[in-house]
Amino acid sequence: MKAKIHPDYFQTTIKCACGNVLETGSTKKDIRVEICSKCHPFFTGKQKLVDTAGRIERFRRKYAKYQVKQPA
Ligand SMILES: [Zn+2]
Repeated sequence: MKAKIHPDYFQTTIKCACGNVLETGSTKKDIRVEICSKCHPFFTGKQKLVDTAGRIERFRRKYAKYQVKQPA
């Protein structure tokens, strides 16, 4: 590697809002994320809502009449 042209590379941790912590290497330290592979609905198979500015509510209202009722 050529000297002084590369950013510093650290061993660091990525902390998710769900509590999951991943060890990795990065040029940044103490990375925080809101969703990770442990809690993303694609991997858990469960529904988890990450609502931003009421968009989910607006979507639900718009498509309420098409929604199939799910058992409680
Ligand atoms: Zn997570």
